[in-house]
Amino acid sequence: MSLAHRQPLTENSFLRYLCGMNGLSEKIESLKKEIDAFSIQNTQELESYRIHFLGTKGLVKSLMGEMKQVPAEDKRAAGQLLNEFKVFAEAKYDLAKDGLENNETQDNETDWSLPGNEIATGSRHPISLMRNRIIEIFQRLGFSVADGPEIEDDWHNFTALNLPEDHPARDMQDTFYIQQEPAILLRTHTSNVQIREMKKGKLPIRMIMPGRVYRNETISARSHCFFHQVEGLYIDEQVSFADLKQTLYFFVKEMFGQNVKVRFRPSYFPFTEPSAEMDISCMLCDSKGCSVCKKTGWLEILGCGMVHPKVLENCGLDSNKYSGFAFGMGIERPTMLKYGIKDIRLFSENDIRFLQQFTGAY
Ligand SMILES: [Zn+2]
Repeated sequence: MSLAHRQPLTENSFLRYLCGMNGLSEKIESLKKEIDAFSIQNTQELESYRIHFLGTKGLVKSLMGEMKQVPAEDKRAAGQLLNEFKVFAEAKYDLAKDGLENNETQDNETDWSLPGNEIATGSRHPISLMRNRIIEIFQRLGFSVADGPEIEDDWHNFTALNLPEDHPARDMQDTFYIQQEPAILLRTHTSNVQIREMKKGKLPIRMIMPGRVYRNETISARSHCFFHQVEGLYIDEQVSFADLKQTLYFFVKEMFGQNVKVRFRPSYFPFTEPSAEMDISCMLCDSKGCSVCKKTGWLEILGCGMVHPKVLENCGLDSNKYSGFAFGMGIERPTMLKYGIKDIRLFSENDIRFLQQFTGAY
């Protein structure tokens, strides 16, 4: 129904139908029909409806305002009728408003034929790729993965590993101190996890410890103040150097191919005795000598050795009964070899152009 045909309800007409309550209810019934018939198809019509029925000068308000002229005995019944009418008028408004809002978002603003926004799926970081691969190989040999804190005390990082305070080998592992006396520092290797596992005393131990480590080094293309390691530890009765060699030999063949050659060079670490560095034949030049292997045909890949009896005793293990081997390798170096990365800083610069190159890599 169009508003043009509506006549404002005057005081007189109101009083007239209030002569009997029947008159009021008839009037309200007819107004309800008018509301039912009121067509609301857009926001303009919605606003017209609001002004006409619910606004400050609207029909509902003006009917309410006339209540004071109703005789006292009819006030209660009339009030009830008017309240019902008000709720009825408001319900139509709320319903129409919700309907229009939904239509706007669904039909007017969204073009469903437009192409979607691409969601970048990301890829694994090359360090993670290499770490996972190393873990997977050792897991096949029955090694489990252990984790530990990167912020460590002096005892777990140095002293327990047979590196007493005045030991010169500490200079090679200068790190960042969080506090002195007692010294709290960023760990220089994941060996602190080895110590923590040995102290638990649950034998045998056959574990690898991947993680981030820190050194106070000048940042360059070849070295960084933090990098990643995987260390391994095997402690049981009668573990020998032959077990160490066989385990690492299996690892490098799985990692770098069945044709890789291995050599052990005697070395020194305070926490192992005997100690060795393990080299693999350079796969870049087929052992002929190149700039990466410094013309030697060999690549240094890890350090290893039999756990020093003193380290076992420091952790409460009987060194006469138990023996074991340990090894440790950086993750950055083999990753650089595998993917031909020439600058170690690329790993931590978070440059998306670098990282995107490893989508689909394994
Ligand atoms: Zn080479």
